[in-house]
Amino acid sequence: ARKFFVGGNWKCNGTVGQSKDLVSMLNQSTLSTDTEVVVCPSQIHAQSVHENLRGDISVGAQDVWTQGNGAFTGETSAEMLTDMGIKWTLVGHSERRGKGEQNPEVAAKAKYALDKGLSVIACCGEPLENREAGTTNDYVFPQIAAYAEQFDKADWAKVVIAYEPIWAIGTGLTATPEQAQETHAAIRQYIAETVGADVAADVRILYGGSANAKTAPGLSAKEDIDGFLVGGASLKPEFADIVNCQG
Ligand code: 13P
Repeated sequence: ARKFFVGGNWKCNGTVGQSKDLVSMLNQSTLSTDTEVVVCPSQIHAQSVHENLRGDISVGAQDVWTQGNGAFTGETSAEMLTDMGIKWTLVGHSERRGKGEQNPEVAAKAKYALDKGLSVIACCGEPLENREAGTTNDYVFPQIAAYAEQFDKADWAKVVIAYEPIWAIGTGLTATPEQAQETHAAIRQYIAETVGADVAADVRILYGGSANAKTAPGLSAKEDIDGFLVGGASLKPEFADIVNCQG
């Protein structure tokens, strides 16, 4: 069985004080032990969040560099994250892809991070044009293929996929459970065909895009939806309700 997984992507938000407040909110909340929880603060707040957060919630970075330390201004290396005790990183969020990151770079980031011992939340998701044209899979499968080309079979044990349709992010237009389930099932089937049925059966596929406490229960009831990657609602007490949405 795939353990339910809820990630909070805090994006570029928060003062030092607000990130401390979020940590105390999380430290005080009652969270289901049946859910694995990871929060991804801004890189600059990651260390203090990691040091102050309860032990049953992990911390992730929002992005990672494709290589190790060196003359790479502005980047954060996997080595820096692991040195700090951080266990996870996002890669390939659409807000980074929108700045020009393409599939090969995203997959290279994921592979480098895995090789250095990080676990990876590997993002994918289509723009509105593809959803409307019925070409969602044509857009998403190459994103998955780029990851699969880089990963060894054993790497998949440390990978979670986040399916985040771009049209649903920050818009309040949550995908319906049926829309999300259809794409999650297609991604799982694609992984079964290209990587292996065992990997496909075990890999968790999260939904992201205006997920909230109201929409989470219906989405999470679907067979291939194994959790959420939450943006806006991860900055609110509602995050705990999403973690606990399976009842
Ligand atoms: P929202 O939940 O704010 O739509 O953001 C989703 C997201 O991009 C998480 O990575």
